[in-house]
Amino acid sequence: MDDLTYKTEILDKLSPTFCGAKWYNATIWLGSGMTTSCHHPLPHKVDPIEVETNPKLLHNTPEKKEQRRQMQCGERPQGCEYCWKIEDMGPNFISDRIYKSNIYTQEELDAARNSPPNSDTDLRTLEIAFDRTCNFACSYCNPAFSSTWVRDLKQNGGYQELVSDGRNHFTHLHDSSQLYGVTDRNPYVEAFFKWWETDLHRTLRELRITGGEPTMSPDLWRLVDWFKDNVDKSKTKLAINSNLGGKQEFIDRLVEAREYLPSLDVYTSCESTGARAQYIRDGLDYDYWWNNLCRLSKAGVSTHCMMTINALCLETLPDLINQILDKRKELGKDFAVFSLNILRFPSFQSPLVLPLDMRNQYATALEVIYKTRSLEMHQFEQGQLERLITYLRTVETPHSEAFEMPKLHNDFKKFYSQYDVRRKKHFSSVFPEFAEWYSNL
Ligand code: SF4
Repeated sequence: MDDLTYKTEILDKLSPTFCGAKWYNATIWLGSGMTTSCHHPLPHKVDPIEVETNPKLLHNTPEKKEQRRQMQCGERPQGCEYCWKIEDMGPNFISDRIYKSNIYTQEELDAARNSPPNSDTDLRTLEIAFDRTCNFACSYCNPAFSSTWVRDLKQNGGYQELVSDGRNHFTHLHDSSQLYGVTDRNPYVEAFFKWWETDLHRTLRELRITGGEPTMSPDLWRLVDWFKDNVDKSKTKLAINSNLGGKQEFIDRLVEAREYLPSLDVYTSCESTGARAQYIRDGLDYDYWWNNLCRLSKAGVSTHCMMTINALCLETLPDLINQILDKRKELGKDFAVFSLNILRFPSFQSPLVLPLDMRNQYATALEVIYKTRSLEMHQFEQGQLERLITYLRTVETPHSEAFEMPKLHNDFKKFYSQYDVRRKKHFSSVFPEFAEWYSNL
């Protein structure tokens, strides 16, 4: 069944706003006790006292229960705007609501549709972050998710004169993202392991660990060791988001863990190549990253490449897609399965800040790949590519609360000029295609 048929024949019949992720999926940041249904809605807080007696509260919060009720009634929860925006582009456009639902069975979706909104639901898929320790400080990331970003702000102070940074991503340390030190007892981490050892290791189909950089967290290896000590006790598929830029010993441990884990998927991020990638993802060594990605694939690890589509990646995004497709001739079609996640925050890094003629030019380059190589892609990848091409050509603003374009342009210039000084980089040398436009901002 194709995605559109699934939407109209299965999902919309449950309700026109129904999404399985609201019941069966969660992203939980254990360092701060925040939870959400998927990456798009803003996260909210889990009660640190009540979670000690009911670890399922890590997912089943009063906020999510209200959003489930709205979906059952065909209402649009406000936090899911990302999907509504895609769907409002036309009846044939496929939002993440479809991809986040079609991984569950019809029985599971029916059960969710008919469940009392106030009831607790057992997770099938979960993403957690143990802490924010990370060796990278990517331009579109911030101190909430990276200890290296924290160090930038501690050493250099907040970024100055940004007018669209409403969430203060670049001016505050976001210490609320990491409430507990390395040696502190963290009730959320304890709740997770309690839930894991009693129920989750049986009910979860997939557990994905994100960060920070998870391979730097002792809690990741505590979990991996649990699998080593309890072989065959859990069928949960483990997936790890990794920048693949850490010490070689961590890559070695991932290769070794593949031997006793039921399965291992590694999701890494990159959306451009060479110097441009290293500019955007500060800390990256592109060749080291690529070699680690290939090594894991050869060792039997399932590999994925999450591309965060921002203004600076579009020049060499086609090169990266071509590089992946070329490598598939050797490593198979499942090598580095890619997703194209369109950046909304920070809005001034959105591809929509670029002039329309540039966006059209990049859309045309992507169309060439689509027309000539789509048979080498998965259907999911084809859909993502098609969606991005249309997005670049037609969407005007990154999201409904985005500032008007002059303010976004102001922040683009102000941010990258400070980023250059702090990170010892040079925008116009790395992106000569933008040099004239950038100097006139
Ligand atoms: S943002 Fe989309 S995919 Fe995420 S929970 Fe909402 S409807 Fe589902």
